[in-house]
Amino acid sequence: MAHGQSTPETWGAGRPTGGDGYGMGQRALTLWGARLVEGQGHQVRERAGVTIAGGRITDVRDATGERAPDGAVDLGGRTLLPGLIDAHVHLSSDVARSPGFGPPPPRKGEPPRPRELGYFVLANSARAFLRAGITTVRDVGSYDDEALLLREAIRLGLVDGPRVLSCGRIVSATAPGGRIFTTMYREADGPDELRKAVREQLRRGADFVKVMATGARSVVGEDPEPAQLTRPELRAVVEEAHRMGVRVAAHAEGLGGTRLAVEEGVDTIEHGLSLHHAPELLGRMAERGVVLVPTLSTFHDLAERFADEFAPVLVAQAERQREEAYRTLAAATAAGVVLAMGHDSGPPGDDAAELVRMVEGGLPPLAAIEAATGGGARALGLQDEVGVVAPGKLADLVVVDGDPLADVRVLSDRARIWLVLQGGRPVAGQALEGGGWPAGPES
Ligand SMILES: [Zn+2]
Repeated sequence: MAHGQSTPETWGAGRPTGGDGYGMGQRALTLWGARLVEGQGHQVRERAGVTIAGGRITDVRDATGERAPDGAVDLGGRTLLPGLIDAHVHLSSDVARSPGFGPPPPRKGEPPRPRELGYFVLANSARAFLRAGITTVRDVGSYDDEALLLREAIRLGLVDGPRVLSCGRIVSATAPGGRIFTTMYREADGPDELRKAVREQLRRGADFVKVMATGARSVVGEDPEPAQLTRPELRAVVEEAHRMGVRVAAHAEGLGGTRLAVEEGVDTIEHGLSLHHAPELLGRMAERGVVLVPTLSTFHDLAERFADEFAPVLVAQAERQREEAYRTLAAATAAGVVLAMGHDSGPPGDDAAELVRMVEGGLPPLAAIEAATGGGARALGLQDEVGVVAPGKLADLVVVDGDPLADVRVLSDRARIWLVLQGGRPVAGQALEGGGWPAGPES
């Protein structure tokens, strides 16, 4: 990729030194006796060994009938899979969607919370993602460039966290949502101004561009049905982003804007709930590798979890949209569209709740896991680096207690996340917290 921020070495996981990382120097680590979910359409291996050196996977092999090599860490049948990817998060110090996470609101009479406390909330979020086995997140919109700030803090080693890809600000037409989402948005009108809005995000350091192809279901004044941008406007966004080597994610609810987004060549469709009405569009997405991020959880949030907090008209709309989102999940799967997991909810670290919903919506557990690994990697344009356990890939890995193929809820249970490796470095998991680590060579 041409864009300066877009190499794995400059992202979060590429902490330059990491002295305790396996294989950062000569030390190699072999994980042995794992049930292995390689991802990307490979069969599951019941007993496998994976070797890591230099932050990357160097060897994957069948361990059936073989003795563990000296110094290998025996996983005792635990499941090893690629680090999970959440393709639709909003990193934010505003934890309104995450009750119980972050500081409680001040009581009457207490001084207001200093704004700067938000930075600590972001750091806590970053650690919460890792503890849940989420090694990469794609931020699709934050206030005040918080995602860019967190990405930099992680890169500099000030806090452990997932690899962060940020869109900078969301590019939107001048719209009612701009009054609600304030600094999360960059409003622009007309092809030239939209082009400039895209360039501004690259100037900020964005890894990709997020554009509002339709209005948002969470804003009373917006109709999520029609396209919110004209064709020349959306075309300018996609052209400019692609010319500069970054991908485009489109918020797309109604069919009008979704159709325009697919036709104009965006790379991912966010929400996309109306697509079940348009099998030809799903066919086109499958053919071109456009990834769908269904974000089922967000419809449950608006229709159920936070129903008391939203305007009734939006709650009623979300109930309809929730049904549509599940219909689209099924139709997209049937059409062969690549899916990615996007929680679009909180608290940080509960992301695999989306996987549970995908399975409830009819996806086999292995397909749901693919959405959170290889599918996510495709959505982010990182399929050459992460999302699969294969030689040459970055050693972003998760080891879980139990079998997520038998019960995908294993992945949403923090107590079952045994070890999380990021670029070969053990960064989280019960093995680290409970003293089951260090183990392995030369330790
Ligand atoms: Zn969102």
